[in-house]
Amino acid sequence: MAERDRLRDYRGKRDFERTGEPRGRGASGGARPRFVVQIHDASTTHFDFRLQVGGVLKSWSVPKGPSADPKDKRLAVPTEDHPLEYEEFEGVIPRGEYGGGTVIVWDHGTYEPLSHDREGRPVDFAQALERGHVTFRLRGSKLRGEYALTRFRGGRDGDGEQAWLLVRRAGGSARAHGAPDPRRARSVRSGRTLAQVASEAAGR
Ligand code: MN
Repeated sequence: MAERDRLRDYRGKRDFERTGEPRGRGASGGARPRFVVQIHDASTTHFDFRLQVGGVLKSWSVPKGPSADPKDKRLAVPTEDHPLEYEEFEGVIPRGEYGGGTVIVWDHGTYEPLSHDREGRPVDFAQALERGHVTFRLRGSKLRGEYALTRFRGGRDGDGEQAWLLVRRAGGSARAHGAPDPRRARSVRSGRTLAQVASEAAGR
């Protein structure tokens, strides 16, 4: 599917005359695919977890954010594909617009796909996602280690009813970070909290 089409849902929900969010050029990335975790203080405060796959950011809304505890499975609800430049978006989406509220970039970095088939060969990450299960190693400023995303409800033809689980895999780094209290969390880009971003945007 062309990048323009993959971003159709994203663009259809937004008025780019009103929101400072990127329209999306579908720029090509670096050697390693990127990930970003944003904290979004909208009608509910939640984490948005995004993985670069094939020229877009595949996206999940994770109400509680990623956990550092492998026993702690976190609900992840798919949202529309976002443009790659969304990784850098931090600011305030105007009230009344889609997703209105404050966004900070809590963590970002690269990831390494880890999914393999039964014979131990690497599988295509996008195809594995379509089938509903991927594993990957995050290399962020805060999140480090292996995670799995697994669909447990809904089919591959996304109808908004899918539900996935984001789970940290056992082992690896002992000094792993999990999701913080979103009110106290600071942007990895600017060091600011949600409240600071909101008040600066309001000119206070
Ligand atoms: Mn969101």
